[in-house]
Amino acid sequence: YGDYNQKIDYVFKVVLIGDSAVGKTQLLARFARNEFSLDSKATIGVEFQTKTLIIDNKIIKAQIWDTAGQERYRAVTSAYYRGAVGAMLVYDMTKRQSFDHMVKWLEELRGHADQNIVIMLIGNKCDLGSLRAVPMEDAEELAQRENLFFMETSALESTNVETCFLTILTEIYRIHA
Ligand code: GDP
Repeated sequence: YGDYNQKIDYVFKVVLIGDSAVGKTQLLARFARNEFSLDSKATIGVEFQTKTLIIDNKIIKAQIWDTAGQERYRAVTSAYYRGAVGAMLVYDMTKRQSFDHMVKWLEELRGHADQNIVIMLIGNKCDLGSLRAVPMEDAEELAQRENLFFMETSALESTNVETCFLTILTEIYRIHA
C-alpha cells in the first residue's frame, strides 16, 4: 500500500462548470464518495476530489475540480482550467436559463482550455421530470453542433452519474494514452 501512488498510470484533471445551483457539487459528491445532500454547500472552498479507477487495465486517478462557488461571481480563473483534459458542462434541466448559458460557458472554456479537451454536456436533476424545461432534442442539437458528449443525470437518484464520468474518462484515456 505504501507504494500505491507510484502505481498510478495517469492523472486526468476534469473541471465542472455551469451556473450556480445546477448540481455540480452533488454530482461530484455522488461520483467520488457516493453521497448526496439536499442542503446547499456543506463545504465551501474544496477545490477538487479524486477517485481512482481502472480503465483498460491501467490505474487512472481522476482529479475532478469543482468551482467552489466562484461561478457566482464570474470569477472562475484561468488556473481552474489549466491542465484540464476534460470538462463537464452542467445545466439544470428544470431551469431553461442554465441551459441557455451553456453557450457562454462553452465560449469561456474554449478560450481557456486546451484545444482537444473532451467536453460532456450534462442535464442534471432528471429525477424532476415533470418540471422539465429543456427538451432533450435541444440539448442533443447543441451537443451535435459543438461536438460534445451528452447525458441526462440525477445526482439525487444516482442516474447516469457513474456512466457519465466513466464515459468522459474513457474518451480522455483514448486520446491521451
Ligand atoms: P452547484 O452550485 O452547481 O454545485 O449545485 P449543488 O450541487 O450545490 O446543488 C444545488 C441544489 O440542487 C442542492 O439543493 C442540491 O441538493 C440540489 N440537487 C443537486 N443535484 C440534484 C438532483 O440530481 N436532483 C435534485 N432533485 N436536486 C439536486
